[in-house]
Amino acid sequence: MLVRTRDTLAAELCALHGSGMTWRQIAALARFCGVPAGTLCAIAKGYEPKSPDLRAKLGLPPTATVVSVDGAIPDGTQVTSWRMCASPNCDNTFADNNPQRRYCYECRPKKGKTI
Ligand SMILES: [Zn+2]
Repeated sequence: MLVRTRDTLAAELCALHGSGMTWRQIAALARFCGVPAGTLCAIAKGYEPKSPDLRAKLGLPPTATVVSVDGAIPDGTQVTSWRMCASPNCDNTFADNNPQRRYCYECRPKKGKTI
């Protein structure tokens, strides 16, 4: 499986466009798997593709890696926000279940009504 970063993809697209190819000609190349010319142009100019399907076609890694501390999390699960853990010895991020939670679930495991 092809793996790229957005920066290497943008550099590749800029190099191709700089060599005189139009965006439509670049989009017609097999390695871009039918991604529209306008999308490739936007990526070259700094756009970060959000769609998981589009990212997979372009060989870009998923936008987030989620670690579950209790059970599985289905693909596409939505969270409203994330925070940095308030512990000085920890640099974990977490999706808070309560606005008053300040520590990640490793530093302060969830139990009952305790925050
Ligand atoms: Zn923590």
